[in-house]
Amino acid sequence: MLLDTFSRPLRNLRISVTDRCNMRCRYCMPEAEYVWLPRASILTFEEIDRLAGIFGGLGVRKVRLTGGEPLLRHDLPTLVRLLARHEPLRDLALTTNGILLARHAEALRTAGLRRVTVSLDTLRPERMVTFARSGRHAEVLEGIAAAAAAGFESVKLNAVIIRGHNDDEVLDLLEFASSRGIEIRFIEYMDVGGATRWDMGQVVSQREILEAVAARHGEVTPLREDDWAPAERFRLPDGTIFGVVASTTVPFCRTCDRARLTADGTLFLCLYGERGLDLRELLRLGAGDEEIAARIAETWSTRTDRGAEERAALPDRGVLHQIDSLRADPRREMHTRGG
Ligand code: SAM
Repeated sequence: MLLDTFSRPLRNLRISVTDRCNMRCRYCMPEAEYVWLPRASILTFEEIDRLAGIFGGLGVRKVRLTGGEPLLRHDLPTLVRLLARHEPLRDLALTTNGILLARHAEALRTAGLRRVTVSLDTLRPERMVTFARSGRHAEVLEGIAAAAAAGFESVKLNAVIIRGHNDDEVLDLLEFASSRGIEIRFIEYMDVGGATRWDMGQVVSQREILEAVAARHGEVTPLREDDWAPAERFRLPDGTIFGVVASTTVPFCRTCDRARLTADGTLFLCLYGERGLDLRELLRLGAGDEEIAARIAETWSTRTDRGAEERAALPDRGVLHQIDSLRADPRREMHTRGG
């Protein structure tokens, strides 16, 4: 097994298939304009498939397709079908904002996608207009229903909770999810690249979320089953299970087994990391699989990243990147690196 300097295994790969998005969530893409990756630099399906096979050989068992909005990538089921052929990559998942999900859910399931996570921050369409500059709330709900009907092994919801925006919807979102038999994960607002409006005052902590849930539903019991999962999961007295991803206030770098591939083939080992490994160049210069595997192995085995813990230790934590630095290198953006 490939281990880094903190004995963390490489098991989990997030593949961003596009840096484009059809929403403009205020915590991710709040600016009026963006610098996009050049089209010619975007990995083809064949290139992604080849890299996925190499990662599978190095120990990766979970692959999550993300973006940007991954369903904006034309014919995504074809990529899923290619990836599903790699035996080691048993756990093939997708994170999407759901807008285009209703029309693709069936084809994605048939192609071999096992799990889907849909981002849903609000149940109020007018809030999505002001906060994410999208009037397509009904399509998101249709996408969730289509995913639930398509027979995936799991459908989950992600909700980033932000003070003054949707912190009054924690209980409603929980009810929405549990009444459909869907697990929801509340995510703390993170100071990642792209979050140019971030400040600590807007972060609703795991503690606050649990207090709000406990006040309504009674005792919240932690489930301690998978120490490597980003979300800590909890059970309510009525059996409802939900999760919280507390990356901002309780960072979990010590149990991070995730690598991230940008749509243009740059490998990052941390959401906060500055430098990545250019795998596209290796691919396009004709490197063999062993050579690429060796470069990835060398990069992972020397990994020292503890980005979220280092951020949490800062006395005056502020925005990670201002807009100029994001424009200078769009790979610093969450929507390019893949959430
Ligand atoms: N477009 C897809 C979606 O909306 O799920 C996939 C990409 S999106 C970048 C992946 C996840 O990152 C979403 O669940 C989103 O809420 C989360 N995210 C983006 N910026 C964030 C931030 N500043 N803090 C916490 N989560 C964030």
